[in-house]
Amino acid sequence: MTTSNQPPEPHHPSTEGAVPNETSYVHSGVNPGAYGAVATGIELSTTFTMESPGVAGRYDYARAQNPTREALEDALRATENAANAQAWSSGLAAIDAVIRLTAAGRHVVIGNDAYGGTWRLLEKVWGRLGLRTVVVDTGDQVALEAALDGAGLLLLETPTNPMLRVTSIRRAADAAHAAGAVCAVDNTFATSWLQQPLDHGADISIHSATKYIGGHSDVVGGATMTRDAELGRHLAFLQKAAGAVPGPFDCFLMLRGLRTLPLRVERASANAARIAAALARDPRVAKVHYPGLDDHPDRAIVDTQMRLPGAMLSIELADEATARAIATRTRVFSLAESLGAVESLIEHPASMTHASVNGSALEVPASLLRLSVGIENVEDLLADLDRALD
Ligand SMILES: *Cc1c(COP(=O)(O)O)cnc(C)c1O
Repeated sequence: MTTSNQPPEPHHPSTEGAVPNETSYVHSGVNPGAYGAVATGIELSTTFTMESPGVAGRYDYARAQNPTREALEDALRATENAANAQAWSSGLAAIDAVIRLTAAGRHVVIGNDAYGGTWRLLEKVWGRLGLRTVVVDTGDQVALEAALDGAGLLLLETPTNPMLRVTSIRRAADAAHAAGAVCAVDNTFATSWLQQPLDHGADISIHSATKYIGGHSDVVGGATMTRDAELGRHLAFLQKAAGAVPGPFDCFLMLRGLRTLPLRVERASANAARIAAALARDPRVAKVHYPGLDDHPDRAIVDTQMRLPGAMLSIELADEATARAIATRTRVFSLAESLGAVESLIEHPASMTHASVNGSALEVPASLLRLSVGIENVEDLLADLDRALD
């Protein structure tokens, strides 16, 4: 047991340079504290004593860094073998920080099937400050290269939300770099277990930790991982300077969720694949959007950059009224926004998650339902959908 007044060094397992696996998810980011704990404790102190004026120990003030957040950031860094990781108070706080990296006079490029909140932040908040956003189909390489001319940042989503289109991260990152832009990938849908954007040339991987990292619908948070240490330091500076940091309780919940991410994502993806295949054969469903289906337009890219096609899918029904009715009839799938947790959710993007993009280039079909498949018994999920479709 440590008797000095110096905090023990957080324990960094030997994941440096290693391919992240189930072992690193379980063991990285464990801070044993003063008593050799195997689960990281929640350190609430907002300030830490200094040795002498201006000479801090490991921590000084909790907005800059805190032991619980640092343990989470160590664990996040290991999941994508990144140089650096930062935890944020929400996914949008993470995206906002990344937007702040854009050089003055340059614009931001986003896909035409992007998270509605990202579009709202760029259009309604940053747009007022003069930052321009160009919307493009990121799967169209010629259009993407044209949109990137003069850009400072490409904010790529793959798979997209809610249409589940997949863009080659390598090709998009190369195009961004040729234009002198930073390439950030919103990796929320895929998760770090299924997709490693930094390995495919992206500079930054972004997560809404509210989704798969937390995994239990009980914490709002965000994460960024960077390939380059300098970019990571810039984001860490933004944590301190702009302050969108998560509290210690939230960091604890994100850390706890992260440890089981591979297990949860694999089970949920297996369930989603079964459900997508069943719905693709069902005459009551007009179209199934799932990157794991053989007739998915981007299937070839999926195989080059994703371990599995994931646990998100969307379906088109005959019309909006049918879609709305089905969304209220499921019993195992809960009608709710969000995704990525142990329980299955169903939602109507046009009136819920994507209501803010109606009338824009990002508008989604009103006959569409989005499913976030959880880790329940797949037969129960199939029976629930079968009943709701009747
Ligand atoms: C939910 C979500 C966000 C926003 O994250 P919050 O934690 O809700 O702020 C960003 N991107 C994607 C793809 C999301 O699903």
